[in-house]
Amino acid sequence: MKEKINLLDKDFSQMRNLMKQLGLPAFRAQQLFNWIYSSKISSFASMDNLPQSMIALLEEKTCFDPLKIISAQRSKDGTRKFLFELEDKKLIESVYLPYKGVRTSVCLSTQAGCAMGCSFCATAKQPLKRNLSCAEIVNQLLTIEKKVSRRISNIVLMGMGEPLANYSNVLKAVSIMNHKDGLDVAMRRITVSTCGLVKKIYKLAEEKLQLTLAVSLNAATDDLRDTLMPVNKKYPLNELMKACRHYAASTGRRVSFEYVMIKGVNDSRDQAIALASILKGTLSHVNLIRLNPVPSIKMQPAATGAIDMFKAILEMRTIPVSIRQERGKDIDAACGQLSGRKTLNLKRPPDSHSHKI
Ligand code: SF4
Repeated sequence: MKEKINLLDKDFSQMRNLMKQLGLPAFRAQQLFNWIYSSKISSFASMDNLPQSMIALLEEKTCFDPLKIISAQRSKDGTRKFLFELEDKKLIESVYLPYKGVRTSVCLSTQAGCAMGCSFCATAKQPLKRNLSCAEIVNQLLTIEKKVSRRISNIVLMGMGEPLANYSNVLKAVSIMNHKDGLDVAMRRITVSTCGLVKKIYKLAEEKLQLTLAVSLNAATDDLRDTLMPVNKKYPLNELMKACRHYAASTGRRVSFEYVMIKGVNDSRDQAIALASILKGTLSHVNLIRLNPVPSIKMQPAATGAIDMFKAILEMRTIPVSIRQERGKDIDAACGQLSGRKTLNLKRPPDSHSHKI
């Protein structure tokens, strides 16, 4: 039997083309986008402004089924972590983060596993299996929105995988998320992260999008970054910073630098001074993130005092910096931890708990 076409794999212009291929008027694309992404209905039968013949055709040839949730955890602070099983049984994770007021955020995966091998990361323990399709990326968000019955205001592509290594599917997913008839999330509220794929940063700069680029930095000297992030051997810091400055100049958007703080590894005064030095003159913002400890990785989170000192050193040198609020501490909060427990039998932290939802 011929496989059905997944409508979530189609950006707006592809949806219009698909309508034509199916012998339907192109304007039906907008109606489909509205039903799927704005009304968030779950079946063709609910699309009550479409003729029955079109509904029958769509049911026969296409689909937009939600992802299968096989496990979920809920933190005391409202953070919810979802483990999805894809059609080929690969496991991926997403996190839902509600904040006070109307702000809600999701962190989505872009690959099953990851090839980048960062030494502090639970996902790195799971080799890259494959890129996620556009449908699988968009569907994490759609499935979560339906599950939590809230509109998502901010999207972060910072879950399992290296987003820029899955460039075309990620950018197509971003266009659906941003489209006014799609999920209608402002481009400035969409963040794409990278561990530092320099060539792809230049490529992304050419798109002239207003999204936020987040660079996972984690060290301010090549010696140290080489040990934490193998990608640094291919793209050392001077090349990475040059690409980031180009991105900021091309888009007018400041680059967000993520710095996971690890006790006795990268939380020293020297690293803070070196970081201020490499960021000088760059349109940037630094996020200091306390490491989420993972039992299989022998690294500990930096102490509060060390993080405060690090922040003060950057501030003294006029580098914009904030300390990321810790969320989901009582669940498998680290990226890759929940799926790792399923696939690799990793142990759970002693104070974590999970809920079937
Ligand atoms: S930190 Fe990101 S890029 Fe590095 S191994 Fe983990 S998922 Fe991959």
